[in-house]
Amino acid sequence: MGRLAQTEGLTEIQQEILSTVRSFVDKEILPVATELEHRDEYPTEIVEGLKELGLFGLMIPEEYGGLGESLLTYALCVEEIARGWMSVSGIINTHFIVAYMLKQHGTQEQKDHFLPRMATGEVRGAFSMSEPGLGSDVSAISSKGVREGGDGGGFVLNGQKMWLTNGGSSTLVAVLCRTDEGHPESTAPHKSMTTFLVEKEPGFGEVRPGLTIPGKIDKMGYKGVDTTELIMQDLRVPADRVLGGETGRGFYQMMDGVEVGRVNVAARGCGVAQRAFELGIDYAQQRHTFGKPIAQHQAIQFKLAEMGTKVEAAHALMVGAARKKDAGQRNDLEAGMAKYLASEYCKEVVEDAFRIHGGYGFSKEYEIERLYREAPMLLIGEGTAEIQKMIVGRRLLEEYRFQG
Ligand SMILES: Cc1cc2nc3c(=O)[nH]c(=O)nc-3n(C[C@H](O)[C@H](O)[C@H](O)COP(=O)(O)OP(=O)(O)OC[C@H]3O[C@@H](n4cnc5c(N)ncnc54)[C@H](O)[C@@H]3O)c2cc1C
Repeated sequence: MGRLAQTEGLTEIQQEILSTVRSFVDKEILPVATELEHRDEYPTEIVEGLKELGLFGLMIPEEYGGLGESLLTYALCVEEIARGWMSVSGIINTHFIVAYMLKQHGTQEQKDHFLPRMATGEVRGAFSMSEPGLGSDVSAISSKGVREGGDGGGFVLNGQKMWLTNGGSSTLVAVLCRTDEGHPESTAPHKSMTTFLVEKEPGFGEVRPGLTIPGKIDKMGYKGVDTTELIMQDLRVPADRVLGGETGRGFYQMMDGVEVGRVNVAARGCGVAQRAFELGIDYAQQRHTFGKPIAQHQAIQFKLAEMGTKVEAAHALMVGAARKKDAGQRNDLEAGMAKYLASEYCKEVVEDAFRIHGGYGFSKEYEIERLYREAPMLLIGEGTAEIQKMIVGRRLLEEYRFQG
């Protein structure tokens, strides 16, 4: 990447991992990404390569066969991968969130059962909160889990879910449902939700009795990766597949997962913005108008200056948010800021690179056309800009309480 988006203070191991991932991206992802994306084709070979690199187990502890790396290492890898193709980072993102939730909240049996196979990529994770009628307002979830056969019995799940990234290709879905039992101390909506670990076959149609994945949603970008609905009709789940073994904890578990997911989406914004900057600055030095390269027109130079500044600022904020979490500190403020800024800047940098390309930016032959359709997804996924601003605003008011 040259001078921009450097990260100070990385260990030798981190540097080694990142340079391996970067060369994988340059050799195996960038040359095929746009073609696969135009065909909306799942990148099977790339995913096999990521498995070999150990990326599916990057943050899974070594005792479960993973690499036990930090959130920072993970985020920097995601940044590199998104620079190659944002969809590929989406394939590992939900897997990573589910593995993280298992590591933080799972019972010992659940960790032993899933994490070693998640580390190799044999079991692949998806997570499911959103429904057709809600995304931002998670507390309004209407999918239901009802216990059958009294205490200790399994659950029957019913409801419809929406927007599952990796809904078809995954074999383990963390599904958030309302469970009326709630927590004894309160019946507040967020205390009556439970995360269920639902195992399934990959593919579409009825992938397990009571569980249907209807098919891929046709999207404007973020292609290749499958995004689906999920329908539960009397889906039976044993009691030992309640995440953490106790009902009523699902809302907090999911929010914890989404918090690390936000650093991840910020990293994806950084990666896409970097690629757009690279494409823009290259093109600006090749295209001539009025007798000189357009890079020599001040208006274009100003654009490049703004783009580079945004790439640098987004990267710094993202790294800060990851480091805070790695230090064991609460990072919701920083993760919210990083996700908000990186996704907005990403959209702006991509748009400027598109403008620099003139008419060619509108042609499918140029990579920037793909980036232009991919960037908007980052404004929405893992919480929209408005939701990030709500989180950031509330935390700032907590920190800077008026003293009178
Ligand atoms: C490609 C893709 C992949 C996805 N993958 C997943 C996944 O794997 N798992 C999953 O569970 N979900 C996933 N989602 C869903 C995603 O998280 C939601 O789309 C997102 O949270 C927004 O919810 P919504 O679409 O229902 O919009 P809404 O919540 O209906 O919001 C609509 C608009 O209103 C604004 N708004 C809402 N509430 C407020 C408020 N209180 N104040 C101000 N403005 C507000 C929003 O910011 C937005 O602009 C995915 C979405 C997409 C597009």
